[in-house]
Amino acid sequence: MNVLYYWRPDNYLRDRRFGFGYHLNQNSPVLARVAEGDTVWAFTRDRAGRYVLAAALVVRAVTRNPPAYRYGRYRVWGDLDRTRYFDVDASPGAEALIRHLRIAARAELLAQSFQGHSAVRPLESTDHQLLYDFSAGLPVLRKVGVYPEDEFEARLLLGPGARELLVADGDEASAVRMRYLFETVDVTRVRRHVESLQQAYAGRCQICRFDPRARYGRGLCHGHHIQWLSRGGEDEIENMVLVCPNHHAAVHQADAVFDYDDLTFRFANGLIEAIRLNQHLRPAA
Ligand SMILES: [Zn+2]
Ligand SMILES: [Zn+2]
Repeated sequence: MNVLYYWRPDNYLRDRRFGFGYHLNQNSPVLARVAEGDTVWAFTRDRAGRYVLAAALVVRAVTRNPPAYRYGRYRVWGDLDRTRYFDVDASPGAEALIRHLRIAARAELLAQSFQGHSAVRPLESTDHQLLYDFSAGLPVLRKVGVYPEDEFEARLLLGPGARELLVADGDEASAVRMRYLFETVDVTRVRRHVESLQQAYAGRCQICRFDPRARYGRGLCHGHHIQWLSRGGEDEIENMVLVCPNHHAAVHQADAVFDYDDLTFRFANGLIEAIRLNQHLRPAA
């Protein structure tokens, strides 16, 4: 099922500044009915106050968040290749189109039709098609590079060098991610979390139980952020797992989604790997 939601302008601008995250965390139960390949359409207001189409997030998976997660019960993971973020400054207004859809959007201020329980609205296929046709002419923003975040996280654990790793990568799109990581991530706090995970699991991988300390006399496992830091993830321990370098590389390079419903990583090829050592992650209620 395709859906439409209103992306609050302050949230939109913040995400645009730091690089769009290809995620939507939301509480609406409508999201439980969204499936792989569906589109989550988003509109917002631009700086001039016009309503504009902001994104077409093509869904890879919808998963559950931990209990009482403050941004909502559901997480939509967008497909990195097929998702489009539009350049709203160079786009025509979309208010007439949205009011024309069969979903009732009759409030005087359009955004008021998308509040509370109505924040995410199911679309009939004809409405989806109208949005799709409209979007074909919209300018699309350049994708922000997916970061070598596994390396970044590894170096956070090992001490100095994380910042240098990012600075060495001079790509313009990477600079957006860098800004996000430097301005929002508290490195000391992340290190503290990694340290407590190392203690809780005696340095072992939470997925395969690999124990590098026993085998090599060294702690080799990394703290991984389930919703990547560079895609809007939080530096909270509930957003982290301790994984071996193999699993870490696999999760990043195969862009695995994580479901708190059953505490599993799901890979694009259908492989499912469960967390087998767990003390700190709470499954979705
Ligand atoms: Zn492992
Ligand atoms: Zn990671």
